[in-house]
Amino acid sequence: MIASKTQAAKPKVGFYGFTGCAGDLLAILHCEDELLDIFNAVDVRSFLMASSEVHDDEELDVAFVEGSITTDHQLESLADIRKRSKVLVALGSCACFGGPQTARLGYGDWKERFKKVYGNTKHTVAKPFESRPLDEHVKVDYYIPGCPIDRYQFFFALTRLAQGMSVELTTFPVCAECKWNENECLLLKAQLCLGPVTAGGCDSRCPSHNLPCIGCWGPAAEANVASEIDLLKERNFSAEEIVSKLRLFGGAAMVRRFADLLGIKAEVPARRPRPKKVREPVVAGKAKKKSPSKRPAAKSRAKKR
Ligand code: SF4
Ligand code: SF4
Repeated sequence: MIASKTQAAKPKVGFYGFTGCAGDLLAILHCEDELLDIFNAVDVRSFLMASSEVHDDEELDVAFVEGSITTDHQLESLADIRKRSKVLVALGSCACFGGPQTARLGYGDWKERFKKVYGNTKHTVAKPFESRPLDEHVKVDYYIPGCPIDRYQFFFALTRLAQGMSVELTTFPVCAECKWNENECLLLKAQLCLGPVTAGGCDSRCPSHNLPCIGCWGPAAEANVASEIDLLKERNFSAEEIVSKLRLFGGAAMVRRFADLLGIKAEVPARRPRPKKVREPVVAGKAKKKSPSKRPAAKSRAKKR
């Protein structure tokens, strides 16, 4: 349960969405059992999907932003949100890594790809450009990956940020959760599973249903990348097959990490340098504390679902 606060002490929070399917914001709205706790713990100043009452000229303690950036209008809004927010959190894989709409980032001119799909359509509302994750444009303090996000990771992050603490989410790969769930390994059955290099936190949903992981949570911090590539090559998967799978959800972030090992020329633009140390939130004036262990065991989380 998220701790309740008095109105005066409540941190101001905003939820925003750009290019994507809105699945992460919907995942939050679908937390029926916890929504009251969330609204008790923080002062939600903007959440268009939940309320038409928005206060988009105010300073925020925390902004949660979903989706990648695809137009000049979105970029302006993102810059404004960044300016008004002490902490900016990328919500979901599109915001964190670009998502499926950045699957071809860095491969030729996006206008050619646009023309193939839309012909000579004129842009009348906003000026589009190659879709990119948030941190290609502004500083991002924290990343909550997922397609969509996992509600327990969101609660964990919101609770910590609402109390002025830092957030560190899962660093191990999907394989760890897959082992805890005692699944038979699909890689050993010659299926192209991205579990070894994909961030855990989804409770190995796909391998648990006998489907190989397609990397929708983006790259894992603790992945043995070289070993995964060797394993896949041993099973006769070509570099093109592997990279196309990696791009599907991981977008630019996955390909940057794998291009050298796969011996491909990714031509993905360099990422903006991340801050060495994430900026601590200044919510409610609390002191910085160390992160606790990140998640309950996969089995006990599975029971809650
Ligand atoms: S099935 Fe996939 S996620 Fe599970 S252990 Fe094998 S490689 Fe890892
Ligand atoms: S594709 Fe991979 S990361 Fe995405 S839900 Fe399935 S197992 Fe998890």
